[in-house]
Parts: sequence; structure tokens; C-alpha cells
Amino acid sequence: MSCTGKIKEGIYNCFGEYDEAMCHQCIHNDQPLDGETRNCFVSYRDKIEELYNYLRGISLPDGVGVKMPKLSDKMAFTVIWLLQEHFHILPDNIEKCRGCRELFDSDSEGYCLTDEYTLNGKPLPQKYRGQWCNACVPKVEFESP
Ligand SMILES: [Zn+2]
Repeated sequence: MSCTGKIKEGIYNCFGEYDEAMCHQCIHNDQPLDGETRNCFVSYRDKIEELYNYLRGISLPDGVGVKMPKLSDKMAFTVIWLLQEHFHILPDNIEKCRGCRELFDSDSEGYCLTDEYTLNGKPLPQKYRGQWCNACVPKVEFESP
């Protein structure tokens, strides 16, 4: 993932801010070579997608030259899940959509449908359960717990 220098819309802007969310690119922008600071914030969703692509043997992160594993989609996301839910190294709000299989930020979109949801007064059937992005969420009249 390269720094585009463009301000991404709809996400936290770390331009000039210093906290744990600041990305490697922004740290470099603290003293840019050309004297021009840029907003190069990279969201956790994008960073985790980069890791996901690395684990699946699809692409190396920019500037990195190491061997790539070639895990299945499921195994690659299992590694990410472990880093999120057991080790708490990665934020756990980045989910994989059950429909389109793309990653999404559940803090800003999507649904986590569990058996606590109901459909026609009964627990939501298994086929509707799981993580869904806004575009893929089943178009049924489920009710929240
Ligand atoms: Zn989706």
C-alpha cells in the first residue's frame, strides 16, 4: 500500500495528530523530505487487508522483501482472527463478510447476526448468521435482540 497523499473521506484523519492510530507513513510525514505534509492515514481495514493478502500469497506489503506463505482464505483469516481475539494485537472490528468475502470495518458498517436475532419469532436460521457487510446483509425482516 503506497501513500497517495490524498485525504480519504469518511475516516479518521491523522494529519498532524499523534496517537497509537498513526501509521508508519504519517510518522514519516512528520518531517517530509519535500517540506509538504500530507495526510497518508491508512485505516486498520486497509492494513489488515494488506496482511490478509500477504498471508494468502497474493502480494507483499510495499518495501518488504520476505517469503510469502500461501494460506487459503480461511486459514489466512483464522490467523487474523487469532491476532484479534486471542492476542489482542489487531483491532477486532475488522471483519470478513460472509457474502462477498471482503473485509469491512464493523464500527462503520455491517451486521453481526447471531442466534440472538429472530425471524418470524424464531431464532435466526443458521444460513443468515455471521458477519455481513451492508451490501450483502440478507434481505429478510430479522429482529434485533
Ligand atoms: Zn459483503
